[in-house]
Amino acid sequence: MSSFTDGLDVNLIDGKLVPASGGGTFETLNPATEEVLGAAADGTGADLDAAIGAARRAFDTTDWSTDPAFRARCLRQLQAGLTAHVEELRELTIAEVGAPRFLTTFAQLEAPIADLGYVADLAESYEWQTDLGAAKPAGVPSHRYLLREATGVVGAITPWNFPNQINLAKVGPALASGCTVVLKPPPDTPWIAAALARIAAEETDLPPGVFNVVNSSDHAIGAQLSTDPRVDLVSFTGSTATGRKVMASAAETLKKVFLELGGKSAFIVLDDADLAGAAGLAAFTACTHAGQGCAITTRLLVPRAQYDEAVEATAATMSMLAAGDPQDSGTVCGPVISARQRDRIEGYLRLAQEEGGSFATGGGRPADRDKGFFIEPTLITGLDNSSRVAQEEIFGPVLVILPHDGDDDAVRIANDSPYGLSGAVQSGDVDRAWAVARKVRTGTMGVNGGVWYGGDVPFGGYKASGIGRESGVLGFEEYLEAKSVAVGL
Ligand code: NAD
Repeated sequence: MSSFTDGLDVNLIDGKLVPASGGGTFETLNPATEEVLGAAADGTGADLDAAIGAARRAFDTTDWSTDPAFRARCLRQLQAGLTAHVEELRELTIAEVGAPRFLTTFAQLEAPIADLGYVADLAESYEWQTDLGAAKPAGVPSHRYLLREATGVVGAITPWNFPNQINLAKVGPALASGCTVVLKPPPDTPWIAAALARIAAEETDLPPGVFNVVNSSDHAIGAQLSTDPRVDLVSFTGSTATGRKVMASAAETLKKVFLELGGKSAFIVLDDADLAGAAGLAAFTACTHAGQGCAITTRLLVPRAQYDEAVEATAATMSMLAAGDPQDSGTVCGPVISARQRDRIEGYLRLAQEEGGSFATGGGRPADRDKGFFIEPTLITGLDNSSRVAQEEIFGPVLVILPHDGDDDAVRIANDSPYGLSGAVQSGDVDRAWAVARKVRTGTMGVNGGVWYGGDVPFGGYKASGIGRESGVLGFEEYLEAKSVAVGL
């Protein structure tokens, strides 16, 4: 691609950029063109073992966990390094992730780089020791304190859909808290992680072992992070099915687990909302990055009396947002990540028809694209919330539109899901929208077009969408232990 992407076939282990042990590599692809971009290091179990050992040693034998000012400096260096390479990273993100260009100015790249500043500041301003005052428990005069300390070695396992954001949303707070990290990125976007590794190695003072990255074509290698006794916490983002496996295998060594999982979030339109505006926003959200966002609203709940009108308005916007070249700044819906994901989505489109649904727009691959993994923005009509396409995460530009019979019914349908990650509500009356937002059992809600995303805003799920919160003070505290100390007086 460019000189920036030369030499991204390395892992970062114990401060060194190294090829995989055994020298193995695997190809990374451009999902919009199916062209091979180049080779990534195909890390082995031995590489992960070495990375965990380095992270353990760095945590146990250096001052990293007790020197927040140094950690803040390293994080600001990392932020500066990423910022200096932001244009190369933008091209890489478009090429490897298939991310539409417009999204790289936000959550696909620039926003998570900016958010490193938030965690660097937090490392310096956080109250590491709280005075709980004097008391006489059991008659013993004691002065009590609460200390917050880094948890230890973090195994971070990430998916491909927003790789810059998710890698940095784990690595940033984990390092700021004083933990050391082994990052296991997804096989679909290894270069994004390798670029981060190189900038960390070459442009920061991060001590050897504090931050390690092991790319591999082998998904199963991640399981080592949840079984190895030297790892204290697994911070995982990915599918609910894999999250269950991570939690089960982490149980053996009683690790802390922090899980950010799937979603099937509802966009609720109340009967006093501007229907055309709401339909347009719901359509735009569902098409963004070809629907490959865990928090994207993929069920559109509209008043029954306005169902046909809502179908027409939503389908009109979705067909305008046709799948296109992510290089174009006007593209909202790019490719999906792989042939495997495209085939999985097509399986759901067949299922929608078998379940009795119809397509108001879309329903397959776009006719005008013979290369790349594209799916047309698709609106499924004629089904209820019990259908599998309304219950299961599809992870494509596919929206299911469902009728509701008033505010309580809309809340009931929204909550009739194994997931609880996100949601939205539109109403002409903000108090009414608030009342609905409070009742939906989900980790984030957008009210009347509000956007909750931000480094200072906790994000995560209820129910099968996860355990814990990423970002904000809550996200930072996921990486901390608490120690209560009493001093006899
Ligand atoms: P995935 O679960 O297939 O893989 C996620 C990561 O886990 C990858 O790095 C993979 O190599 C690794 N992995 C696979 N098997 C493993 C095992 N047994 N033990 C340990 N690690 C293992 O998910 P994906 O397809 O890469 O990503 C899409 C999914 O991620 C969707 O379900 C989406 O909703 C979810 N996601 C959630 C959030 C969130 O914050 N809640 C954000 C983005 C994506």
